[in-house]
Amino acid sequence: MTIKDDFLSFNTHGLYCKYGDFYLDPKEPVQTAVISHAHADHAISGNTNVYCTAATAAFMQLRYGKNAAKVFNIAAYNNSFIVGDVQITFISAGHMLGSAQVLMEYDGVRYLYTGDYKLQPDATCEPIEWVKTDVLITESTFADPEVLHPDPVAEIQKLNDIKINILLGAYGLGKSQRLIQMINEHAPQKKILVHHRIMPINAIYEKHGYSPGVYQMYSRRLMKNQEEYVYIVPPFTFDSYINAKGVKRLFASGWKNLQVNKNDTLFISDHVDWNDILQAVEHTKPTQIWTLHGNGTHLKKYFGDDIFVKILN
Ligand SMILES: [Zn+2]
Ligand SMILES: [Zn+2]
Repeated sequence: MTIKDDFLSFNTHGLYCKYGDFYLDPKEPVQTAVISHAHADHAISGNTNVYCTAATAAFMQLRYGKNAAKVFNIAAYNNSFIVGDVQITFISAGHMLGSAQVLMEYDGVRYLYTGDYKLQPDATCEPIEWVKTDVLITESTFADPEVLHPDPVAEIQKLNDIKINILLGAYGLGKSQRLIQMINEHAPQKKILVHHRIMPINAIYEKHGYSPGVYQMYSRRLMKNQEEYVYIVPPFTFDSYINAKGVKRLFASGWKNLQVNKNDTLFISDHVDWNDILQAVEHTKPTQIWTLHGNGTHLKKYFGDDIFVKILN
């Protein structure tokens, strides 16, 4: 039972596991892909065999149609299956509907790939679940002690102070539904309008038992009135409304370095911050941490000789 240092490695297609001959969230189409969640930077089209949750498959089929995959192998959370010589189990990641951590067991050793994950409560997806692991393979996008996400409820409550119509830019998949739910709960007098491209995504949420709440499809006629409307639009549409009159433009983002004014941003993140990563380590009790997507140097310094930290990217 020794940790295999070469269990995962990067090649041009992405993050590869040679013991199971599969890729995790590949960057280019491959024979066998294990996909953590449906965001476009994790779930590309054109793979032959895709292993994922039912919701992830539904979102991929909506975005890619026939090219979504040749074969979808759907697995529920906590149900193990075998790929090559590796036993795989999806564990809820709390990042968006259908998002999964990927637990891989091989030769008596447990490797947990987190994918994107979050600890903050989110009524539009399954909460994160913790399992113990030998190796924690974590995203490190915000793995910096300087990065601490603000309280998302306080951010949403800022909408209550704005008495004119609001144009709220947000990614259509995941973020938009979380915003609809939070506005319903924390700014209930607001009337939510949704861009037509977001409607079919909401329908998948509803079909899977995670209705985001009350909203209606946008129409120009409605927005002519000042009735505290919040119109949720994807980033592309948001940018095209740069000179909109009589509305407050806001963008919901977890990125503090976005090129927008602080007064025009709601800081709502669907990723872990520094404290969240430390909590994840406490829950999963790894003897090694491998970092991806970002900067692993702070974790390496923080854990010193206690936990071996390897920077994968
Ligand atoms: Zn994501
Ligand atoms: Zn991501």
